[in-house]
Amino acid sequence: RAKNLGRNNYQYFTPEMDVAAHRRISMEYKLRKAIEAQEFELFYQPLVHIQSGEILGAEALIRWRSDGKLISPAEFIPLAEDSGLILPLGDWVLRTAARQAKLWQDAGHDLTMSVNISSRQFSGTDLALTLREVLLHTELRPGKLYFEITESMLMGDVSKAETTLLNLREAGGTFFLDDFGTGYSSLSYLKRLPIDGLKIDRSFVKDITDDPDSRAIVAAIVSMARTLNLRLVAEGVETQAQRSLLASMGPIVLQGYLASRPVPAQEFEELLAKGVLLSPLVG
Ligand code: C2E
Ligand code: MG
Ligand code: MG
Ligand code: MG
Repeated sequence: RAKNLGRNNYQYFTPEMDVAAHRRISMEYKLRKAIEAQEFELFYQPLVHIQSGEILGAEALIRWRSDGKLISPAEFIPLAEDSGLILPLGDWVLRTAARQAKLWQDAGHDLTMSVNISSRQFSGTDLALTLREVLLHTELRPGKLYFEITESMLMGDVSKAETTLLNLREAGGTFFLDDFGTGYSSLSYLKRLPIDGLKIDRSFVKDITDDPDSRAIVAAIVSMARTLNLRLVAEGVETQAQRSLLASMGPIVLQGYLASRPVPAQEFEELLAKGVLLSPLVG
């Protein structure tokens, strides 16, 4: 018995797990240090008019520059969420993106700015307060700051989500559901909650030209959006074929490598100078 237990214990604490736990603790430590050392940057990816190719807005996407290397948010956002570090980080993202949007607006570009909001930020109490302060402070044009949230943040206590959204909307926020179609996609909450638009998930866009099911799902989203008066963005558009097909389905704003990858602010200004990133669709 003792032997068995011993063996089980031994199996439980595998060297791999030890390494994983260790890596996690050390990553959290590094993340904390990185916030102090301000090692984060925002990249910006254009949202463009699907027919004209004109830039309509930008999505701010965080990057961590650690010893010269860029670390993807997929690696550290979950950790930042678990540790609560997402709160100071998210605050910084919101303020930085708003300030940048104001600079670009002042330079004559009537842009929207989209910011990703994590669930901890969303359910926290001061987001509406921060938003009011940021809008007052930057004097951003009203209605130009978009919040990207996910379906999972709205599930559970729908009444609470509704109150949060109403408070934020009153403070000047506009809401898009990110990665739409991958979550619970309950249509009843879409009708009930003050949501302004949907971002069709990349996974549907990816297969839209080859897979009839993906095409049917996107067509259903487009028709639902029309009925519920929701704006639409397609994320992850990489080919002209995807663009043409989407354009034939309805009014959808395009985001994806076809127009541009996410780029540093300075490079985004070069895109703004061009103004139009795709040759216009005819017909
Ligand atoms: P997301 O908000 O859905 O952002 C879209 C992701 O798709 C970005 O990855 C973007 O670089 C990528 N993408 C855009 N166009 C294409 C395309 O045509 N093809 C492909 N293959 N990919 C494309 P990124 O920048 O690595 O961000 C990943 C996720 O991390 C974001 O997904 C978002 O959920 C999260 N994230 C990024 N920045 C922030 C932030 O400031 N705060 C929070 N809470 N989350 C963030
Ligand atoms: Mg997003
Ligand atoms: Mg997305
Ligand atoms: Mg996505």
